[in-house]
Amino acid sequence: PTMAHSQALLVLENFIGGKFVPCSSYIDSYNPSTGDVYCRVPDSGKEEVEAAVKAAKDAFPAWSSKSPLERSQILNKLADLIEHDLEAFAQAESKDQGKTITFARTVDIPRAVHNFRFFASSILHHVTECTEMPTMGCVHYTSRAPVGVAGLISPWNLPLYLLTWKIAPAIACGNTVVAKPSEMTSVTAWMMCKLLEKAGVPPGVVNVVLGTGAKAGEALVCHPEVPLISFTGSTLTAQRITERSAPHCKRLSLELGGKNPAIIFDDADLSQCIPTTVRSSFANQGEICLCTSRIFVQRGIYSEFLKRFVAEAKKWKTGNPSDPTVDVGALISKEHLEKVRNYVKKAQAEGARVLCGEGVDPVALPPGNQKGYFMLPTVIAEVKDESCCMQEEIFGPVTCVVAFDTEEEVIKRANSVKYGLAATVWSGNVGRVHRVAHRLQSGLVWTNCWLVRDLNLPFGGMKASGIGREGAKDSYEFFTEVKTITIKH
Ligand code: NAD
Repeated sequence: PTMAHSQALLVLENFIGGKFVPCSSYIDSYNPSTGDVYCRVPDSGKEEVEAAVKAAKDAFPAWSSKSPLERSQILNKLADLIEHDLEAFAQAESKDQGKTITFARTVDIPRAVHNFRFFASSILHHVTECTEMPTMGCVHYTSRAPVGVAGLISPWNLPLYLLTWKIAPAIACGNTVVAKPSEMTSVTAWMMCKLLEKAGVPPGVVNVVLGTGAKAGEALVCHPEVPLISFTGSTLTAQRITERSAPHCKRLSLELGGKNPAIIFDDADLSQCIPTTVRSSFANQGEICLCTSRIFVQRGIYSEFLKRFVAEAKKWKTGNPSDPTVDVGALISKEHLEKVRNYVKKAQAEGARVLCGEGVDPVALPPGNQKGYFMLPTVIAEVKDESCCMQEEIFGPVTCVVAFDTEEEVIKRANSVKYGLAATVWSGNVGRVHRVAHRLQSGLVWTNCWLVRDLNLPFGGMKASGIGREGAKDSYEFFTEVKTITIKH
């Protein structure tokens, strides 16, 4: 870029010990809806992580000795400050990630605010256990204490939403943190750092180190003084993190990929099911770990479902993410778009039918978005269960629809992937809904709805979708160390 051009770029800095610190080298970050480099992100490594861990360690004694109420008040203040700037955060998230401004305004940023408010409240309500042993003259009780410096690593699909889902419980419990957001979506984390001092978060309690997974991420995972890592991202990266952290026996929470089924029985209310399943397939360009990508429809309603589903999918408008009438924005990167498109090509090569979207319908984009990474919502039918499109996480606006006959059969087929994150079941028969929900290998099952969350309850996946759960009690347990104390009287 020319000098004039590079001056116009947004340049981010790390946030260490309460101060913004420049880095010696930077990486480019793209605006997915235009294809232009618009931002420079620090390319941090060992040195920056070292400084951040030191700052977090120094801040730990004072922060961990504050009462839960004091910490709660600070978290609430931070929530208020983010909410006050909601529109600026939403604009930044949409520009950085490619998601629609509507999604950022109504889902990402409100949820980031809610994460802080929720844990500000929930931290006040935990009780520990106590048992009595009268014959021994003993009382036992448990106490919980923060662990120390928590390493938090998050992905690019829901940037501030997922990062704050980790920061909030970690600091509410009294830990200090070193957070590493995705190098592709670092802007809102950096913006949040600007509010920390005003919220009353002491220097060093929240440190943000920006950079790639291979450099900054691994330095954090391998740091001997970071005893726990909370990671959300792909299963492949989780394997690497598990290996690299093994010599230190770290505590890991791993929230990973999914290949989520929707099971639609012939007694489902299609007027609810169809729009919701279109949303569960294509919301945020299909870039949500909880998105539906395998739709099993009972044979009696299969043709009707397919016809209505495709018609509904076609209503979703793809285009400039900052246009509030747009439903589908840009995918995160050129490489990711290529990867998602290749899945559609492979399905076609195997004889599947693409009913709408990629390669079938024309994409009409405004002049400024011609170089953006756009793809239409794509529905594939007649695809075999063994096909990579039915087995692998695509993480884009692509969903497969197949027919089934019996309950027994569909449970088996739904479970026949390596993942087990989320599932939806659609039926008016309450007995069937319970039976099927119990037998699905899935950390979350939504029946007759999707993405309705109560943060009190465990979130996380089975099989290759993760290890551990997060949520009020689960996050509290992960981010604290328990001790059993026995008193003889
Ligand atoms: P990713 O695994 O490539 O990256 C996630 C984060 O890990 C990024 O910050 C990245 O820089 C970092 N990282 C990469 N390599 C690393 C390494 N060797 N050591 C340490 N850190 C490293 O994932 P992504 O492409 O950013 O995100 C998409 C994936 O995330 C999908 O698989 C999706 O299903 C999953 N996801 C899961 C959930 C969930 O809650 N289960 C939520 C959202 C996304």
